[in-house]
Amino acid sequence: MIIKKSSAEIEVMKEAGRITARALRLVGEAVRVGISTQQLDEIAEEAIRSCGAVPAFKGYHGFPATICASLNGEVVHGIPSVKRVLSDGDILSVDVGAVVDGYFGDSAMTFPVGSISDEATRLLDVTRRSLEAGIAKARPGMRLYDISNAVQMVAEAAGFSVVREYVGHGIGRSMHEEPQIPNFGPAGKGPTLQEGMVLAIEPMINAGSAAVRSLDDGWTVVTVDGAYSAHFEHTVAIGSSGPIVLTQE
Ligand code: MG
Ligand code: MG
Repeated sequence: MIIKKSSAEIEVMKEAGRITARALRLVGEAVRVGISTQQLDEIAEEAIRSCGAVPAFKGYHGFPATICASLNGEVVHGIPSVKRVLSDGDILSVDVGAVVDGYFGDSAMTFPVGSISDEATRLLDVTRRSLEAGIAKARPGMRLYDISNAVQMVAEAAGFSVVREYVGHGIGRSMHEEPQIPNFGPAGKGPTLQEGMVLAIEPMINAGSAAVRSLDDGWTVVTVDGAYSAHFEHTVAIGSSGPIVLTQE
């Protein structure tokens, strides 16, 4: 069942989203050659707690950190570490969430480190645009897979591939609610979108093949071919006249 939220609930989710967006911005401003992903994790945790919110990921199914920090060919769920130090030419996907009064915000962005290749620049640009295309479909009367299809079209038109195994999701008093939101699929199918639904839309786009696998740490998901992967995510409420991005300041 897709749980619709009242306008009062969406106001609380807006605050969770604002705090999430602020944490992601502060992490992004700290991204540079020589910083470790552990240091970035500390910045995110402080950013969230200083606003009176709670990191959403820490302890979630045992995840040990505030951010997921996924480097280069890592797709999602990378664990921050003092040993992971950023180098020139890397791309770093940061996923972060905050909880306010029991309501979740969830957002992700891939950052360039120093000077990155033209191909990596294009991957980041296309993944961001695929998210924007998906968000544009998040309006009453559209179908769920209109979002999926919009993401897929942008990514594949650019020659990139869409990760199949991990998807976006409804969000509210739980981080993961129904429905699942694949980043691929046939337009015009799936549940009809209605005002009050809140969705975390999150394309994960690979520069090479779509295939991914999990590492032995039980968390980190990587591309099988080692090619770069990018991840952009927003928590979006469906308003009466269109999408309302909640994860913004
Ligand atoms: Mg996320
Ligand atoms: Mg998510």
